[in-house]
Amino acid sequence: MEWFDTHAHLGDGQFSADREAVLERALQSKVLKIVEIADSPAEWEGALAMSRARPAQVRASLGLHPYYADQYCDELVDDLAKKAGLPEVVAVGEIGLDYVKTEIPKEVQLKALASLLSASLDWDKPVVVHCRGAYEDLRLVLERLFRGKTPRGRYWGVVHCFSGTAPDALFCRDLGFALGVDGPVTYPKNESLRQALREAGVECLVLETDSPYLPPQSSRGKRNEPAAIPEIGAALSAALGVAPEAVAAATTKNALDLFRWPR
Ligand SMILES: [Zn+2]
Ligand SMILES: [Zn+2]
Repeated sequence: MEWFDTHAHLGDGQFSADREAVLERALQSKVLKIVEIADSPAEWEGALAMSRARPAQVRASLGLHPYYADQYCDELVDDLAKKAGLPEVVAVGEIGLDYVKTEIPKEVQLKALASLLSASLDWDKPVVVHCRGAYEDLRLVLERLFRGKTPRGRYWGVVHCFSGTAPDALFCRDLGFALGVDGPVTYPKNESLRQALREAGVECLVLETDSPYLPPQSSRGKRNEPAAIPEIGAALSAALGVAPEAVAAATTKNALDLFRWPR
């Protein structure tokens, strides 16, 4: 069995003391591949360095998290355009909308998201989209930019840490997006999320930890790390009524396709 963590922030200061050990524990847990997500230009070089140090295990996704949407400017896009062509970089993101945790005005977030999504189309790069409390607006943006077009690979990108409704899940899937499944699928109260994922089906699902955030049920309140992927996979397996081996195989293949990871 082989697993893939499609979304981690191992550049976070919480991993400063034991980053190498965390990467080794991932391998021991059969989490053989990780996409390291850089949220702002200040983190881009660190993610590239991590990918260069472990090219078979780690690749980078460079973006501008909605928390930093007020940093959006032409220079940032120019810099990202150059870096998006590097072999270490498998995606643009995370980018997106967060109407819950940041005071940055919606208009500022929407402008940064729409610009970076169209840039990623020009660069032919998959996107990693963050969405919290903003599915209505996200759907309008995605509809406008992606409806009627066909992605070169299987997906345009991923709506990571999917937290929408079942109709949101079907909308994103049918437009050509994968959905990221993480710690919350293990939480006992989250039956509505499990129902949405069941309706979407395993063919559009990928696993992620969002480390160091969103630990699964067995480690709530603690730091999360990529070695938690099998626990998340087991919860998804139970939710879908699909064997863990099949969930591992399908989500790993989906992730390889999503990021066009060299086979
Ligand atoms: Zn996010
Ligand atoms: Zn994240």
